[in-house]
Amino acid sequence: MNRRTLIAGLMTFPALSVVSRLSLGGAQTHEVAMKFTPLEVPHSYWRDKVSAQAYEVLFEEATEPAGSSPLDDVDEEGTFVCAACYLPMFDSESKFDSGTGWPSFTQPIEGHMATKQDFKMIWPRTEYHCARCGGHQGHVFNDGPPPRGERWCNNGLALRFVPIDETLPELRA
Ligand SMILES: [Zn+2]
Repeated sequence: MNRRTLIAGLMTFPALSVVSRLSLGGAQTHEVAMKFTPLEVPHSYWRDKVSAQAYEVLFEEATEPAGSSPLDDVDEEGTFVCAACYLPMFDSESKFDSGTGWPSFTQPIEGHMATKQDFKMIWPRTEYHCARCGGHQGHVFNDGPPPRGERWCNNGLALRFVPIDETLPELRA
């Protein structure tokens, strides 16, 4: 090894150790903490901005058929954002396979989801929606894994997945 390669080796070593620390330190995540104010636009505003099927889920509270969403199988690192306004909804770290055929999460990104009770199935269920645009996302149940015991059962059509190596899209309105 000559002097030049020795120096190059010494210089790359710290960089490599930083990379390995990052990958050993747990999953990477997008910076999702962001300030936002709820939008005050009518639901019809989104009609030409999302697909017809996504509109039915987001703004008419339809439920997509179980097993129909390709997002159910996504297990890469990244962030799931609202398909309408792009507000981050879930970190991939909170995703788990519930076996239901819908993308399922143990918890949403704090402060980004709002809830209400609905009685569409006769018994009360907790509906949840994007805190920014009001777009319906899914229902939360109390049969999820520990420690929180929550299962946030989401329509894939109401989400868009952004892999960790892509920049989150700007919020839209
Ligand atoms: Zn939204």
